[in-house]
Amino acid sequence: MNRPNIVILGAGYGGIMTAVNLQKKFSAEDAHITLVNKHDYHYQTTWLHENAAGTLHHDRTRISIKDVIDFNKINFVQDTVQSIDPKSKTVKLEDDELSYDYLVIGLGFESATFGIEGLKEHAFSIQNINSARLIRDHIEYNFAQYNLEKGERQDLITIVVGGAGFTGIEFVAELANRIPELCQEYDVPREKVRLLNVEAGPTALAGFDPELVEYAMNRLEEKGVEFRLGTMIKKVNEDGIVVEKDDEQEEISTKNVIWAAGVTGNSIVQESGFEVNRGRVPVRDDLRTPDYDNVFVVGDCAVIMNPETERPYPPTAQIAIQMADTVAHNLKQLLSGSDKFESFKPHIQGTVASLGHTDAIGVVFDDKKLYGRSASVMKKAIDNRYLMKLGGLGLVLKKGKLDMYH
Ligand code: FAD
Repeated sequence: MNRPNIVILGAGYGGIMTAVNLQKKFSAEDAHITLVNKHDYHYQTTWLHENAAGTLHHDRTRISIKDVIDFNKINFVQDTVQSIDPKSKTVKLEDDELSYDYLVIGLGFESATFGIEGLKEHAFSIQNINSARLIRDHIEYNFAQYNLEKGERQDLITIVVGGAGFTGIEFVAELANRIPELCQEYDVPREKVRLLNVEAGPTALAGFDPELVEYAMNRLEEKGVEFRLGTMIKKVNEDGIVVEKDDEQEEISTKNVIWAAGVTGNSIVQESGFEVNRGRVPVRDDLRTPDYDNVFVVGDCAVIMNPETERPYPPTAQIAIQMADTVAHNLKQLLSGSDKFESFKPHIQGTVASLGHTDAIGVVFDDKKLYGRSASVMKKAIDNRYLMKLGGLGLVLKKGKLDMYH
C-alpha cells in the first residue's frame, strides 16, 4: 500500500511543532512526511524585536531544523512556496513542485499596512531574521553617520515606532534599553536621541489591564520614550512621517520608521484561492479549511473566533503551538480512518509583555497580575518551556533564557 503523503508548509511555531508531533506519532513506514521552509532554521518570532533592537544576537533566535527534526522520519526541503493548488493537490516551490495527500499550511504572517501612503516603501517591519537584522544595522548605521554630519542631522537619531500594541511596546522597550549603549558606542549625546511611539488608538496595549498599562508607560517614559496616543500616521516618505491628531498634522523628520501595528496571514494562502477572512482562513473546529477535507491550517494563517467576545482570538505563538497538537492528533485520526476529531479550543495560560531584559507586565493563571522582575522571570520561563517542548533540555541549555534572575 502507498504511504500517505503529508506536506507541511512553513517551520514557524505551528509548522515545526506539527512536524515534531508527527515524528512522535508516526513511523517512517506509516507516512511520507515533508517539511518545507524558506531557511534551514526555525526562528523564534517572539524574540525578533530583541534582534531588531540589537539587544539579542539573531543566532540565539534561530534554531537549526536538523537539531529538532529527525530526518529519518521527515524529509526536509529548503525552498520557497510560491502557490498551492488544492484542486490538483500540488504545491509550487521556487525550485520544484510537490504533490500531497494531506497538507498543513503554517506560512505565518505578513505586515499589514492598511493602505497608509508610503508605509510599505519607506518603513521597516519586524517579520523575520532578515528584516530584524536590517533594522538593527540601519539604526546603527545612522548613529554612526550622525557625527560625520557634524551632529546636524536630527533625523538620523530620531526613531519612530508605529503601533503601541504588544509588538510595538516590546520593541520600544528594547530600544529604550539599547539607546544608551548606542550613544556610548557612537559618541552621541543621549539627550539628543528621540524615540517616539505613535498609536492611533486612545491607549497603549489595548486590552491589557489599565494598571499594568500605566506601569509600562511610566517605565518607558522614564527611559525617554515619547508616546503619541490617539495619533494617526498619515504618510511616510524618505524624509520622515506625517502624523495627525485632532485634525492637526505634524511632520516628523526621521530616517528610522518601524511599523509594528498590524499583521495579516501570508498572502500566498488567499492568492491560492482558499477562503479567507481579512487574510486568514476561517478554519473549522478541527482546523481544516472550510472547503478541503485534506488541508489543515495552523498559526497566523488561520482565524478562530472567541465565542465569549464574538471576536477573533489575536494570533499568537501560544495558539499556534496548541494548534499543532490538534492538527497532529486529527491527522492521525484521518489516516487511521476514524472521524473522532478533536475540536480546537485555546487554553490561554496568560499573556506577558516584555519591557526589556529584567522588566515585564502580564496576567497569568486567569487573573493574577504580574509586573517587574517577577513578570520578566515568568516571560523567560514561558520561552524556556517552549524550547523544552520543541527540542528537550539540550535545546533549553543551548538557546534558552537561563539568565532569569539577572
Ligand atoms: P511564523 O512564526 O510566522 O513562521 C512562519 C514560517 O514560515 C517561517 O519559518 C517562515 O520562514 C516560513 N515561510 C513564510 N513564507 C514562506 C514561503 N513562501 N515559503 C517557505 N517558507 C515560508 N505571540 C505570543 O504568543 N507571545 C509573544 O510574546 C509574542 N511576541 C511577539 C513579538 C514580536 C516581535 C512578533 C512579531 C510577534 C509576537 N507574537 C507573540 C506573535 C507570534 O510570533 C506569531 O503569532 C507566531 O509567530 C505565528 O506563528 P506561525 O507558526 O503562524 O508562523
